[in-house]
Amino acid sequence: MSEYSNKEADTDDEHMCLNTRNEKEQEDTSHNSLENITSLQVTEPPPPPFDPIKRMKEGFNYFKVNEFNKNPSYYRKLAEKPEPKFLIFACSDSRVCPATILNLRPGEAFMTLNIANMVPAFNQLRYCEVGAVIRYVVLTYKVEAIVVIGHTRCGGIERLMSIPSGQTKPRDFVDDWVTIGQPAKAKVLAKNPKATGEELRTLVEKESVMNSLGNLLSYPYVKAGVTSKKLKLIGGYYDFVRGNFDILGSKS
Ligand SMILES: [Zn+2]
Repeated sequence: MSEYSNKEADTDDEHMCLNTRNEKEQEDTSHNSLENITSLQVTEPPPPPFDPIKRMKEGFNYFKVNEFNKNPSYYRKLAEKPEPKFLIFACSDSRVCPATILNLRPGEAFMTLNIANMVPAFNQLRYCEVGAVIRYVVLTYKVEAIVVIGHTRCGGIERLMSIPSGQTKPRDFVDDWVTIGQPAKAKVLAKNPKATGEELRTLVEKESVMNSLGNLLSYPYVKAGVTSKKLKLIGGYYDFVRGNFDILGSKS
């Protein structure tokens, strides 16, 4: 009895095991099917590879149709004689585009983009590219304002902040360039010994703009323009996190 019972019980157990296995298999199969269906539903085709020439053609076509073709007299006059009112220094950061954020049309501003929007002090042996732009634009076009635009989360200022105070030799081009802002960093650190992180970087981003305005005055033609009240130096700050633009100060 017990043997039978055991045998019968074994058979029952086997049966139950078999049933459980079948149910589990069915469950797995339906689960897999569900997963397959779900993956089929959510899988999107990969985006096409970036085509820079196509993107440029589309962008230019938009400008041509919506701006150039609609303002023929403006662009005819501009082709004959550009009269920019601004010289702008802004960061090379792709998020900071002066023409877009200040709604400037072609012809309104000469621009120089560099890492951390810095203007070095007048130096006939270094930074000739910056000196050439300032000299050419101020003397040729007699622009009415030179604007330096700083911005939030500037990688160039971040690099400046990372340079140890005792480091005398730059590690690379970037290090070498951003040390133009060293006086701004030193000034902020002296005035705000407790500031750290983003607060500290923001203070240096802004002070560096003012440092560049001071450096602009070391160019004799800039100094002459400011002294004669024909040229204004303006510091701006674009916060692309909050969507604000502030005037930090001006020299005129
Ligand atoms: Zn920047």
